[in-house]
Amino acid sequence: MSERMADWTKGEQAIVYQTCGACGHVQYFHRAFCAACGAADPGERRASGNGRVYATSLVCRAATPETKAHVPYNILLVDCAEGFRMMAHGEMNLAIGDVVTASFVPFAEKLVPFFTKRS
Ligand SMILES: [Zn+2]
Repeated sequence: MSERMADWTKGEQAIVYQTCGACGHVQYFHRAFCAACGAADPGERRASGNGRVYATSLVCRAATPETKAHVPYNILLVDCAEGFRMMAHGEMNLAIGDVVTASFVPFAEKLVPFFTKRS
């Protein structure tokens, strides 16, 4: 199996996704196999960070003590340009369908993807 590319979960300012060499399926959650056809060892690629807002959800109550300083904050589901959907932080004023692009901001002592409106 190939080595995982570094992404934001490892402190790198990057969003990484997987594509299946056998069927072309795209997935965000890293697995050792393709969730669609089961082929082993999907390839990894760095995403552009561009996408469109699929859903927004305002978080008003902190889930952990570390996130308390950040409430309220906006959690988005973003349909990324490469064809996968991911959950991430975003600007407060975003609406469904907005075209967005990712940057990275500190949140609860780590860097997380943060989507802002693309002009
Ligand atoms: Zn596949």
